[in-house]
Amino acid sequence: MESRWGGVEVSMIGKSARFILDTLFPIECLGCKKEGTWACLRCLKRIPIQTEDCCLVCKLPVKRGKTCFACRKIFTLEGVFSFLDYDYGLVKSILKAAKYGYVRGALDPLIRIVEDYFLSKLEFLDADPRALIFVPVPLHPRRLRDRGFNQAEIIARRFAAISGGQSVPALVRRRHRPPQASLDEIDRARNIRHNIWCVEPEAIRGKFVCVVDDVATTGSTLGECGRALRQARASEVWGMVLAKG
Ligand SMILES: [Zn+2]
Ligand SMILES: [Zn+2]
Repeated sequence: MESRWGGVEVSMIGKSARFILDTLFPIECLGCKKEGTWACLRCLKRIPIQTEDCCLVCKLPVKRGKTCFACRKIFTLEGVFSFLDYDYGLVKSILKAAKYGYVRGALDPLIRIVEDYFLSKLEFLDADPRALIFVPVPLHPRRLRDRGFNQAEIIARRFAAISGGQSVPALVRRRHRPPQASLDEIDRARNIRHNIWCVEPEAIRGKFVCVVDDVATTGSTLGECGRALRQARASEVWGMVLAKG
């Protein structure tokens, strides 16, 4: 496995799984098919970095990806940082290879090209980067079992490492709702809608928290995470994603 995959970590084990991976995802640039890397330097350099910021919810241009005034009423995040356009071919191929191809090494080149931009964006936050808590958007337990890794967690760990902050997988997705017998009417109605929960409130309380994911489209999952983190009394919650769809 080591030689065929050139040291790239593959989450699945077993011969049949590797056979499928070899067939579907041989290691070659997902942009130009050059062998030996998921994304060659030439193709990586062509990926445009998205500098124009807009409100994730209504797409109105706003500074630094802040949630616009009107959307603050319906969206729980202060704002969302993103770096890449999901519809750019190579970005989409890499993120899909990680997500559906079970190839965690495919994420590395994308994370590397956004690192500098990530650090410069942190300067806009009213917080010491070393005090930031990066929380990955949780996967369904079954998906996590199938894939063997959560791509959001890989990104969160990397962001924490380069900023000096901390990565805390404080959220979980639950298929089953908590027992409802003790809840009042309003809480009961809430519980029917929500399936993301904070399981480490003491690590979140009073902290500046960044919810991390690979890609955001409507922002509904990020918003759901923001709700859970606010309920756990985070002082401020931002979203940080590699790409926007
Ligand atoms: Zn290439
Ligand atoms: Zn808006």
